[in-house]
Amino acid sequence: MACATKGLGHPTRYRTVLCDGTRIGNRPVVILRAYNCCMLSILRQEIMYTVRIYRLIHLSPTLFQRLKVAQMEAARVWNACCELHKEARQTRSPWPGQNDLQQATKGRFALHSQSVQMVVHAFLANIETTRKLRATHPKMRMKYPWKTKRFYPVKWPAQAVSQERGRVVLPMGRGRASLVLPVDLPQSSGACTLVWNNGFELHVCIQVQQAEAAPGEGRATVDLGEIHLAAVTTNTGAATVISGRGIRSLKRQRNMRHGQIAKKQSRCQKYSRRWRKLQRAKNRMSSRIERRVRDLRHKATRQVIDFCEKHQVGTLFIGNPHGVRQENRGRHHNQRMAQWEYGKDIDYLTHKSTQARIKSFTGSERGTSSQCPVCRHKHKPKGRVWRCRKCGFKGHRDVVGSVNMHVLAYNEQVIFPRSVTYLRPGLSRRSRRAGTPRAS
Ligand SMILES: [Zn+2]
Repeated sequence: MACATKGLGHPTRYRTVLCDGTRIGNRPVVILRAYNCCMLSILRQEIMYTVRIYRLIHLSPTLFQRLKVAQMEAARVWNACCELHKEARQTRSPWPGQNDLQQATKGRFALHSQSVQMVVHAFLANIETTRKLRATHPKMRMKYPWKTKRFYPVKWPAQAVSQERGRVVLPMGRGRASLVLPVDLPQSSGACTLVWNNGFELHVCIQVQQAEAAPGEGRATVDLGEIHLAAVTTNTGAATVISGRGIRSLKRQRNMRHGQIAKKQSRCQKYSRRWRKLQRAKNRMSSRIERRVRDLRHKATRQVIDFCEKHQVGTLFIGNPHGVRQENRGRHHNQRMAQWEYGKDIDYLTHKSTQARIKSFTGSERGTSSQCPVCRHKHKPKGRVWRCRKCGFKGHRDVVGSVNMHVLAYNEQVIFPRSVTYLRPGLSRRSRRAGTPRAS
């Protein structure tokens, strides 16, 4: 479908943008298909699931209100479960199980019966986690759910969702009108969740195919970094470095804008009209940057896995840089370190490698970046280039780290790669002239 994306915010932040010109009432409904975020990686007979996010923007006021009411209804289910559980705890009677809660919530709420059940399941899972954490981590002083919620995400399992001609129909229970959203879901889609994230989003569970066999027998290591998002080396002597500068610059932009807005807000009375206006601007800006960062992170980790597939890698070691962030190195450095989301990098890499049938594992990368890959002389590098004081070796600092990881992970010494491919995960800042032909 042709995209009429002008005036639609920043559609280029998505890898796939699908615009649907369907109308609800008199307003055009435009849906941007943001590409996925990996949340589930359960392996069951070669079927994998991934979550795709559809932003629901320009909704008609009536539909917007209905979605809001549905979320408030789901929150009421949660609150009812909370009350029952609290009562059981206080009276020291047996805790309500799945059957008790389902019986208690059956037919009382204006939602599809299975949506109600999903809230009950989530509640019980929460109870279970809290119970375990209270036993294993008493210092955390975990509380059982106690807060009265106003909104809660509404979930529909796969068998409740139906699709018809570019629309998705989400039932709201017998005798009530279903929610019809103009989202064109792919064939393999399943369960849906209605989420609020500075605007409504529909999170759709999608089945993805797993590769039939591993790309090869090779072994590779990944060194995660903040300036260079990933440095990958294989035991065959190939290496690539993926830049994290785009993400870094977006985050810096966000921090500066935050500062500017916070300064303006400090001059207003809290919760005044002007204060709220600024708060809205802040939320809009930060969620936009969050989406752009997520997009870049997906593209970067995709490049790592593509590189591994190209070089027939079968096993991937992801170094966990845990511990680097603890040191105090001044406020600017500390802020950068605090905002470095290497946990997400590890998650995305793990999910994408499972899909490509590459075995992945993580472990500490302690000491890998402070040793010479040739003569094992130890010293802390300064700057981006690693220079050995003993043997005169010179090389890319992050590549040194990932070469040394081979010793740690596979007990194998590999030669330092002769050449390194540098990649950027995508255009970080949108140029107004991007795509226009150059004048010769
Ligand atoms: Zn050396």
